[in-house]
Amino acid sequence: KFLVLEGIDGCGKSTQLRHLATWLPSSGLMPPGAGLICSREPGGTALGLALRQLLLHPPEGLAPHSRTELLLYAADRAQHVQQCIEPALAAGNWVLCDRFSGSTAAYQGYGRGLDQALIDQLEQLATAGLRPDLCLWLALDPLEAAQRRAGERADRIEAEGLAFLGRVHAGFSALAKRPGWQQVCGQGAVDQVQARLQACLQQWFVQN
Ligand code: C5P
Repeated sequence: KFLVLEGIDGCGKSTQLRHLATWLPSSGLMPPGAGLICSREPGGTALGLALRQLLLHPPEGLAPHSRTELLLYAADRAQHVQQCIEPALAAGNWVLCDRFSGSTAAYQGYGRGLDQALIDQLEQLATAGLRPDLCLWLALDPLEAAQRRAGERADRIEAEGLAFLGRVHAGFSALAKRPGWQQVCGQGAVDQVQARLQACLQQWFVQN
């Protein structure tokens, strides 16, 4: 199975993914002998790590325009699918990934306003048609997510950043209504959220 965790910056995705990675192999959901491969985007491969560095910390003068940014995320995904995800699935393993196509639809589509049909075409190219079996959206209010990230410096949250996160959040909210998606509330303590995710996965597994 190919499972993906999606959500806005600060929703607790990476922490929850670490806990899921510990729980899943002993959950009884995975077939005997199957391994769990945990990965992330951007940056699930060596080339992807270089792209991640370029995307998130561009040297002066190298910040990409929005269409270029879209293509770089797509390049990261193409490499990740071909080098890491497809071989892992083909060997009978499960893959648990921090972000996938949903992030592109939400950030570059809803967030940056790029054409969704164009994004879908590009996704087809990048993923060669590979789709997750399940996307879990960890839903958290953008202001709360921004406050979690800012911590002590909560007064420094900028309106522009928050408005962008709001659009991305609205994007995930629309995507999560599609088949293959489940919405999980990201509010509360780490353990509470983890319990919700585990319950959701157990229920999904029974139904599928
Ligand atoms: O999940 P993680 O924190 O590793 O994501 C790295 C950053 O990349 C996030 O801050 C997110 O805003 C950005 N990102 C993006 N578009 C994507 C995927 C991630 O802007 N398609």
